[in-house]
Amino acid sequence: MAGIMERKKTKQIKVGNVHIGGDSPISVQSMTNTKTEDIESTINQIKKLENSGCEIVRVAVPGEEAAKALEKICQSSKIPVIADIHFDYKLALFSLDSGVSGLRINPGNIGAKWKVEEVVKAAASLEVPIRIGVNAGSLEKELLTKYGGAVPEAMVESAKTHIQILEDLDFHNIKVSLKASDIDRTIKAYTLFSKISELPLHLGITEAGGLYPGIVKSSIGLGLLLSQGIGDTLRVSLTRDPVEEVRVGFEILKSLDLRQKGVDIISCPTCGRCKIDLFKLLEDVEKELVGINKPVKIAIMGCTVNGPGEAREADIGIAGGDGEGILFKKGKVVKKIPQDKMVEILVKEVKEMVLGKN
Ligand code: SF4
Repeated sequence: MAGIMERKKTKQIKVGNVHIGGDSPISVQSMTNTKTEDIESTINQIKKLENSGCEIVRVAVPGEEAAKALEKICQSSKIPVIADIHFDYKLALFSLDSGVSGLRINPGNIGAKWKVEEVVKAAASLEVPIRIGVNAGSLEKELLTKYGGAVPEAMVESAKTHIQILEDLDFHNIKVSLKASDIDRTIKAYTLFSKISELPLHLGITEAGGLYPGIVKSSIGLGLLLSQGIGDTLRVSLTRDPVEEVRVGFEILKSLDLRQKGVDIISCPTCGRCKIDLFKLLEDVEKELVGINKPVKIAIMGCTVNGPGEAREADIGIAGGDGEGILFKKGKVVKKIPQDKMVEILVKEVKEMVLGKN
């Protein structure tokens, strides 16, 4: 594979105020892990996700209480809320009534045709899209028998069957995901599907694992798909605070130059020349700058020998010395700063730069 391929043009849909597909930016979403009926905790987690740059949030709707909680949750959320529903058409109707901006439900699992029709009618009248979420772990029995297992072809056929149900009801406001817990099947399923459909795609590796395996699997799996031009929105799954999922999602997009959002920090691995606690400095600066949305490139380097030179492309940076450091902008030294003031001064300078005062 050579470089990043041109993005496949899919049909554009809208989840609340966020466009997905077509030439709209690839959006980053996450999912709350609070009990949805615990309104306060769920709203608090959504606020944290908003602050981390999350653009769409999904909440599980396992029962009526959760569906009823959605009204308040949707009212307080600044980002579109998607209801994640399995099987129960009533929960889908409740959620739509509560003001959700999207549904994740597989029409083939709803049951009687009239139930599907009710959900589709309500979603259509509110212009709420439906995501068909195919999961290798829960494929229909007939498909498992037909294909001898949860192979990518079976996943694609499952998606096609669910799509057909919606399209037969003249509902076309659809996006699709085809997730497996391993990279190989996920890539094959999305690649196969992308060849036969113009529908926008939600990317994800499901149950990717804890922090390290999750980040690695998601970066390779989603990275390979994105570099082939496939994918319109994504969710990184981690057994962690969902804020980490958002962070990883944007890092994947930024590293492929598909989005420019927030700070891009380059930092050295440190070596015997470093005389400051660079790990702590980096961690503190990252924490302080989480909410910044404008792109700014920052360098945090261990020493002045190579620091400013290695980080010439950075807008601003620090290179450590002995108990102090130098602040530099675009590779040029600006001033010396004491170690205990590094975080404060760098953060202040970056904020001023972002606000256009610098
Ligand atoms: Fe070592 Fe300095 Fe390079 Fe960091 S910038 S790796 S401390 S030489």
